Amino acid sequence: MPQCIEQAIVAATALLTPSSDSAKLDAQVLLLSIIDKPRSYLFTWPEKQLTEQQQRDFEQACQRRLNGEPVAHIVGFREFWSLPLKVNPTTLIPRPDTETLVEYALGLELPTAANVLDLGTGTGAIALALASEMPNWQVTGVDRVADAVELAKENKQRLAINNANFALSNWFSAVSTQKFDLIVSNPPYIEHDDEHLSQGDVRFEPLSALVADDDGMADIKQIITIARDYLATNGYLLIEHGYKQSVKVQEFFAQMSYSHILTIKDLGGNDRVTLAQWPK
Ligand code: GLN
Repeated sequence: MPQCIEQAIVAATALLTPSSDSAKLDAQVLLLSIIDKPRSYLFTWPEKQLTEQQQRDFEQACQRRLNGEPVAHIVGFREFWSLPLKVNPTTLIPRPDTETLVEYALGLELPTAANVLDLGTGTGAIALALASEMPNWQVTGVDRVADAVELAKENKQRLAINNANFALSNWFSAVSTQKFDLIVSNPPYIEHDDEHLSQGDVRFEPLSALVADDDGMADIKQIITIARDYLATNGYLLIEHGYKQSVKVQEFFAQMSYSHILTIKDLGGNDRVTLAQWPK
């Protein structure tokens, strides 16, 4: 039986409610990607009939969501800093929390033509957000996963952002000797036995982008240690971390002789990013 947009959303919301705490939004985003329309269409044309094909596609998409797949994987996109980014299971889905890091980085006092590095760039989210806002910055994004580098390059091309470049590198391993005014990273920082890893969307994301040794601190420590060789005088390092890790991250920055160590909170009020300047 053919359905209209409104009926389809109501039915899908009911279907998804037991398994998702954002059932209505999920249903809307899934349907919009199938009818290929902007969000406003849902409210302007609620009585519009779906074609049989659209209805079948929508049912299939809802079934995938019911099986736990993240909406971003089903539609293949996620918006970050107002940029529509292609996403896939090879890397982390960009999170709103990470926009905190972007916002703070954009407010720093930096040279007009700042040289910027994003470590573990994944989809390219942070690098592309910074590059899009600051056309005079030169932003390099690196990742040790080749598929992620390809994805970031594709996002750069689709968005026509020319001042960002992406390369394969395990943290700094393939970054040529140079100085950066700003280094940013959203590294893996979750503990191996964190119960959240078996819940919700993260089950479909690569563990390599989520989990780190040493209670989630191993990669953060490595970055803080090595970044000292790559930071310009008074350059900044900004690292995203878990909401309980700020003290440990601050202590390690201090131990490695950084100055102006500061933690900032995300929109949910949790400690989320710690930054510092090099050297003391
Ligand atoms: N903040 C993410 C989460 O809680 C983790 C991101 C990361 O490990 N870099 O799922």
